[in-house]
Amino acid sequence: MSNPIWFNPTLCLIGGAWLPSASQQTITMVDPSDGSEICQIARGTDADIQNAVEAAAAALDGDWGRKTALERGRILTRLGQMVLERVDDLAQLEAMDVGKPLKQARADAVALARYCEFYGGAADKVMGETIPYLDGYTVYTLREPHGVTGHIVPWNYPMQIIGRSVGAALAMGNACVLKPAEEACLTALAFAHLAQQAGLPAGALNVVPGLGAEAGAALTAHPGVNHISFTGSVATGALVQQAAGRNVVPVTLELGGKSPQLVFDDADLDVALPFLVNAGIQNAGQTCSASSRILVQRRVYEEVKARMAEAYSELTVGPAQEDLRIGPLISIRQKEIVTEFLAKGADLSIAGRGRIVDHAPDDGAYVQPTLFADVPPDHILAQDEIFGPVQVLIPFETEEEAIQIANATEYGLVASVWTRDGARQMRLAKRLRSGQVFINNYGAGGGVELPFGGVGKSGHGREKGFEALYGFSQVKTVAAYHG
Ligand code: NAD
Repeated sequence: MSNPIWFNPTLCLIGGAWLPSASQQTITMVDPSDGSEICQIARGTDADIQNAVEAAAAALDGDWGRKTALERGRILTRLGQMVLERVDDLAQLEAMDVGKPLKQARADAVALARYCEFYGGAADKVMGETIPYLDGYTVYTLREPHGVTGHIVPWNYPMQIIGRSVGAALAMGNACVLKPAEEACLTALAFAHLAQQAGLPAGALNVVPGLGAEAGAALTAHPGVNHISFTGSVATGALVQQAAGRNVVPVTLELGGKSPQLVFDDADLDVALPFLVNAGIQNAGQTCSASSRILVQRRVYEEVKARMAEAYSELTVGPAQEDLRIGPLISIRQKEIVTEFLAKGADLSIAGRGRIVDHAPDDGAYVQPTLFADVPPDHILAQDEIFGPVQVLIPFETEEEAIQIANATEYGLVASVWTRDGARQMRLAKRLRSGQVFINNYGAGGGVELPFGGVGKSGHGREKGFEALYGFSQVKTVAAYHG
């Protein structure tokens, strides 16, 4: 394969110029399929973040700040079209950078384009209200951008998360400083090049790659940042919220999950089965909305277990370029984390396992997909987010018991209910403690148009859909007295 990097990856985008980090230091990017070095990227520091925040503020005072909503929308729509034209190039970059099988990487690139289209179309459709008030007054609200928005993105779905967060922020007229994950910067940089070509004015989008504790922490601590959107782990999310608190700025936190699927004995198992497995193993289980807990009513438990086990026996794991169902994890470190979790399941019975292909390189970050059966709901594997291709099967007897088990983790991101009983569907949709509930399907976080976010330790605030536009704006109330 020829080198898919068509830009200089060692530079940051600040105020429309591609510059080396002020530190002149770089970070090595590694291909998790075989452990080989891909390239160097900039190791951004405080000074780069300072320059990027200043450039974003200047953009708001300049060309970008003067754009109408329609003009912003047109730029985003054009950018979406350019992303669509480069879908295969972006997929190649992502496959190499994060080990995502090509088809999945391509789907992420298409989703990025879709976010640009959606927010491009929505930019001029966000409206204020008029409010009936006292005699002699006319009162209305304006939706205004926060100003400079900081975006901290993880490595698992870089393109989708950039699309949903930067796309919505730009549509509302904010100027963005993006800090991609240190393990996954290439599609962020490619996207920024395309944004320039689409006519996004200088400073509207700035990209500073770097380490979380350096560039990330500098961004969250910067007093010139007016809103922070963070997607990542609970531990880092808590740090980000603390830093934002010191500057009294709002944060959106999209954190982890332990999302359940509840399978009742009247469910259409033929429809459910592919979702039960895929929602757990997609992106090698490194998905915040992965469904890692499968709760099954006793009468169909053995059947579901046997059928999922069979599906697992057909799962193959190998290099991203081979486009198998599952690629490597993001890194050897992540492989160690998942392997430690698997060891904690030594007391459990294994219902099914996938297979790592024989020729998978030794230095790749591969783990064997594993389905545990008869798992007590309070077992660590049924409580902690693993972020690998691991699912647990939990039997239940009654609807009430299923609800109690489903709600008994500290997370609440996504849940799904498989049943033909309409009344039960409605009851569970209300009682499940979760930001999204799917009925007879599982979205795995998909759905550009659908508000997405968590309760509890899964975070707060909503991205995607129109909700994100409200999150990336603030309401100004204008009360005019005219007698
Ligand atoms: P992480 O928290 O380690 O890193 C996420 C981002 O935060 C990276 O860009 C990193 O550089 C940055 N960061 C690290 N330390 C920082 C600091 N002190 N200050 C500011 N930024 C800092 O998470 P990860 O391991 O890369 O990602 C996996 C986690 O992300 C999982 O828990 C997963 O559930 C979660 N996630 C959630 C969603 C969602 O939408 N809810 C989506 C994807 C991933």
